[in-house]
Amino acid sequence: MMDERNKRRVFLKKALTGTIIAGAVVAGGMTMASRKGWAVFGLGKDKKAEAFPVTLTDAQWQERLSPEAYRVLRKHGTEPSRSSPLDAEYGAGVYQCAGCAFPLFSSTDKFDSRTGWPSFTRPINEGAVGTTTDYKLFYPRTEVHCANCGGHLGHVFDDGPEPTGLRYCMNGVAMAFIPAEKGTTAKETE
Ligand SMILES: [Zn+2]
Repeated sequence: MMDERNKRRVFLKKALTGTIIAGAVVAGGMTMASRKGWAVFGLGKDKKAEAFPVTLTDAQWQERLSPEAYRVLRKHGTEPSRSSPLDAEYGAGVYQCAGCAFPLFSSTDKFDSRTGWPSFTRPINEGAVGTTTDYKLFYPRTEVHCANCGGHLGHVFDDGPEPTGLRYCMNGVAMAFIPAEKGTTAKETE
């Protein structure tokens, strides 16, 4: 079991640095993902070439979202650290995309990263988010977006805790928290 976990971590780290092409990750990761319920997919994909199920015009997004959510989701902005009430939210429930209500993360996988941004070890399932490489800073980072509408959510780093070793560093304003009683999706436990 430990060997398998280590292999997975190596696999994910390789994937995060972009050494595995997206197709191989999807093809090779599917079985594992369906068994464990998580994986990082869509790595290296060119987001501009992707057609998202939910596609709105810029004007429609502006109308639908608060100015801060629009700035983060549609303009790749970053909210100030500790600005989101979701950073300190630890109730049971599901974190949905603020743009399209797609389920993204489960409270089960949330942890306190002490960064001031809501942080998770993995998405709620393998199809929840996609990633691209972001060169905005001096070093490349892995940008995370909603797989349903393409909205920018944050970044994923490989310095997270067990069981994945990943830290999904999310903007709270890009998400809506749905308490478990009203949640749309029950998280599958391992
Ligand atoms: Zn979305």
